[in-house]
Amino acid sequence: MQTKIKRRPFGNTGISVSEVSLGAMNVRQLPDHASVQRFLNAVLDQGVNLIDTARSYTTKDSRSTKNDSGVFISSEDMVAKAIAAREDIDEPIVIVTKGHGYDIETFDTHFAESIEMLQIRKEADGLYIGKTKVYLVYFLHGIKADRWQPILDSGVIEHAKKRQANGDFTWFGFSSHYGDDEVIKAAIDTGAFQVCELPYNVYNLSLAEEAPLDMIKYAYDHGLGIIDMKAFNGNGTTAIFPQLANYAGFGYDEMLRFCLANPYISTVDVGAVNMEQFNADIEAALLPTLTSEERDELVQKAKRVSPYLKSICRECMHCVEEFACPVGIDFPRILGLHGRYTVSGGLGFDTSDFRNQYAAFNPAADACIACGGCITWCEYHLDIPEMMQKAAADLG
Ligand code: SF4
Ligand code: SF4
Repeated sequence: MQTKIKRRPFGNTGISVSEVSLGAMNVRQLPDHASVQRFLNAVLDQGVNLIDTARSYTTKDSRSTKNDSGVFISSEDMVAKAIAAREDIDEPIVIVTKGHGYDIETFDTHFAESIEMLQIRKEADGLYIGKTKVYLVYFLHGIKADRWQPILDSGVIEHAKKRQANGDFTWFGFSSHYGDDEVIKAAIDTGAFQVCELPYNVYNLSLAEEAPLDMIKYAYDHGLGIIDMKAFNGNGTTAIFPQLANYAGFGYDEMLRFCLANPYISTVDVGAVNMEQFNADIEAALLPTLTSEERDELVQKAKRVSPYLKSICRECMHCVEEFACPVGIDFPRILGLHGRYTVSGGLGFDTSDFRNQYAAFNPAADACIACGGCITWCEYHLDIPEMMQKAAADLG
């Protein structure tokens, strides 16, 4: 496809990917399938050749299986339908998808579900969706300390390598999050993975420049293709984002350019949900690369706000993709509201409206029975029961 988006090498895979790629998790926020298809087709028209999805990126959450408009949306299903309907895509598309298969049986189950949802067909010369050839990158999703030893013990990595050698998927990868440096290093050291997806943004360099060992550089040095997630410090479509932009004095374009100025990153996975957002991201990517002085200046501005961002919920909603609170609390949204309250209050802004918004939650934070079931699903290792107590005290 014709494209103005620059391409970068995708590790040692031998291909290049668009440096701005689509994280398709957020399409579940759109009201209906037609809107999602319009958006995905417009993204494909821009020559994006990497789309990041996951088995768990559906509208399933702790409240219902539908979105706010009452529609069920699966990101994998929508991506497959958009590509399958096209006959004009003139290069392979990289599809990244992920499962929580930390043992062989679950791996095979999750993989089979993704293949079916993505309509992927295996032919003699590779994998296809409709008439479009695809390179399928299959991830162990969200590896972290308590999952790593079971992964090693189960033999799932060797199993995945056999399936990769059999041509069931093209490249093997993993995603992980802040605080799991040791696991990330261990995963890279296995030599089994060709791709990884890690969080990196101007507010949080704790896996990279500010880490004892820069994991993004380490992955790059080991030949992995690196997908940067959370370039906007969490989900750029959530309510806290405009506040951060106001408080820190810079917004999407500078945050994206900050990430793109990191030479080790192959692609920044932006989670836009409409073409206005996506085109703004492309235009920002076309601006000159930030100098190291400009990057330092942004880091200093971000540091004025970042102390208030420690231990707040980013409303990424990953915790409710495979889990529901047993007493029905919409805990990520309560925590998200409390996070905005905390940041605003910390910086001296009016917080009265947050209490009004909290009054709409039923059950509210004080219904938490501290079972702790949610903790293992939180990407940010938040102590959710303790935070629920604080939310109840501050907002109730
Ligand atoms: S700790 Fe509280 S919020 Fe978390 S799952 Fe248990 S009851 Fe729900
Ligand atoms: S509780 Fe953790 S995983 Fe869930 S939305 Fe908040 S930050 Fe994300």
